[in-house]
Amino acid sequence: MSSRPFNFAPGPAVLPEPVLARAAQEMLSWGDTGMSVMEMTHRGPLFSKIHEKALADFRALLGLGPDHEVLFMQGGATAQNAIIPMNLLGVNAKCDYVHTGHWSAKSIDEARKYGDVHLAASAAAPTDAHPAFGYIPAQDQWQVRPDTSYLHICGNETIGGVEYHVFPKMKDLGAPNAPLIIDMSSHVLSRPMDFSQIGLAYGGAQKNIGPSGLTFVILQRRLIQDRVPKPQPTCPSVFDYRKVLENNSLLNTPSTFAIYMAGLVFEWLIDQGGVQEMQKRNEAKARMVYDAIDGSGFYRAYVETAARSLMNIPFFLPDDRLYEPFLQGAQQAGLLNLKGHKAVGGLRASLYNAMPVEGARQLVHYMKAFEKAYG
Ligand SMILES: *Cc1c(COP(=O)(O)O)cnc(C)c1O
Repeated sequence: MSSRPFNFAPGPAVLPEPVLARAAQEMLSWGDTGMSVMEMTHRGPLFSKIHEKALADFRALLGLGPDHEVLFMQGGATAQNAIIPMNLLGVNAKCDYVHTGHWSAKSIDEARKYGDVHLAASAAAPTDAHPAFGYIPAQDQWQVRPDTSYLHICGNETIGGVEYHVFPKMKDLGAPNAPLIIDMSSHVLSRPMDFSQIGLAYGGAQKNIGPSGLTFVILQRRLIQDRVPKPQPTCPSVFDYRKVLENNSLLNTPSTFAIYMAGLVFEWLIDQGGVQEMQKRNEAKARMVYDAIDGSGFYRAYVETAARSLMNIPFFLPDDRLYEPFLQGAQQAGLLNLKGHKAVGGLRASLYNAMPVEGARQLVHYMKAFEKAYG
């Protein structure tokens, strides 16, 4: 076993140790080629093998059918916030969004540059039971325009710790022809998901897949084929879904090393038992930490139980003066990067696929010891 500390960072985040070890072993020579993956042409047969395997394994893990395509792009989830309206707005330029926190707000702000943005629902107002952005608005209250080009949600608010455990269905929302678009940056591959109901899903790889520099886009073929109107004429070619697809994500030089690393993570995931097994482990890890919070009367979490994220758990101490000693003691115990995002404050534990169950166990052990000392 290793003596590396447990890294609870929100992203870039922990990677499976066997993946890092294998990358190190293959660093100077991939197979018997005498070349690092970083030194290979992206158009040659060697990289092509790595690329195709990564795509095929990703598709298999996601359980995608023939209706869905996978693109590897660059620019992160942030670029997608512009790329989506540039490609998918219809003639009336209408697009609907649900506002549940920091990352959906970013998507909304960017879309306003391109389209007629309507908030189908928002958690900006506190309810009797929950603070602002501590819940997902009840779906029967959403107001989706029937002629919207699409509905966008953030599947897991990485900062606020609010997650959809079930995705909405467009036919229940009165817009059966509009695609559902999901920012999946921080929970893709964390559990089985039914993509037949999802028009497009995207995210940066650096949360739950691999290193930064790679953006995944999973989309229904029909969204870019037989679709009128076409992307906006000023849409850059590298951001034109149709062109990226026609070129098999090799329109220009892709992030080759990040694709290779993601491929190693996909192999590791398949080896571990895929997304079913990840769901089990992720539920077990999150349950341990939430139980420690709920059972303490010392730690506090604010997100409604039904929308609590399994991936990112924000939590708070009873006194602001305790954060410094908590974080220092955690670091000494080999538990890194537990500071909350400045927008929310407090603490945050990110428990992505690559975080071992033992990491969550040690965090809970530390939390109990800290409470005993300071509570
Ligand atoms: C991290 C994150 C982003 C931003 O991703 P970049 O790849 O840095 O652009 C967007 N949405 C969510 C949900 C995230 O967690």
